[in-house]
Amino acid sequence: VHLTTITVCMFFPFSALAAVGHTALERYRRAAETDELTGLLNRRGFRHAIERGDNPTQHGSLVICDIDHFKRINDGYGHGFGDEVIRGLGEDLLQVLGPLGCTARYGGEEFVAFLPGIDVAEARDLAQSLRRAFAERAWVAFDVTEQFTVSCGVASLMAEDTLVEAAFERADRALYAAKAAGRNRVSVDGGDAQRQLRLTAGNGAGERREA
Ligand code: GH3
Ligand code: MG
Ligand code: MG
Repeated sequence: VHLTTITVCMFFPFSALAAVGHTALERYRRAAETDELTGLLNRRGFRHAIERGDNPTQHGSLVICDIDHFKRINDGYGHGFGDEVIRGLGEDLLQVLGPLGCTARYGGEEFVAFLPGIDVAEARDLAQSLRRAFAERAWVAFDVTEQFTVSCGVASLMAEDTLVEAAFERADRALYAAKAAGRNRVSVDGGDAQRQLRLTAGNGAGERREA
């Protein structure tokens, strides 16, 4: 009886201490992987989520989004309002792409989503929905009547991409193409210039159909 009592008395404090330590560590890890402004994953959290394989399929699509002329927004309306615009895109990203994969604020006014099992054509359509949702956002609650836009780059994560970096580079290239083509549009990394033109044509209001 004594031995049992001693064992129980020793076991409970230690296990309680271990549980408290584990919870604290978990809280610390979550804080380190979360973006404060939007509540989405940050860059580190996104990388860990993908490396841990939170999503069972490793093939899918990657979408990178970047707010257009964000510097002008900051300069024209102040940094505080700029933060609200970032938060707004975070909300749209979570709503449109969040249920389908892993979303994160990758830095500044740049966001990323990994969509497992979703092909590039579907990811492009989803990115278009996101682009439209953000463009339609009203900012009157902040006394701002101007509307803002976002550009997106989409790339597929291929089986041979052992590192997500490869897909990242392609999505980033596509984003660059979307910016160069006039912003407020979605561009898909297809490798082939003609296909790029076809896929990006007709993205935004009043755009010229190029193919
Ligand atoms: P582009 O259309 O080519 O993307 O132009 P841009 O002006 O959006 O791009 P650029 O990368 O030149 O500007 C990004 C700006 O975002 C610069 C930086 O001061 C600002 N920024 C970065 N992080 C934050 C943030 O957390 N809050 C606010 N308000 N601004 C930020
Ligand atoms: Mg920008
Ligand atoms: Mg940027």
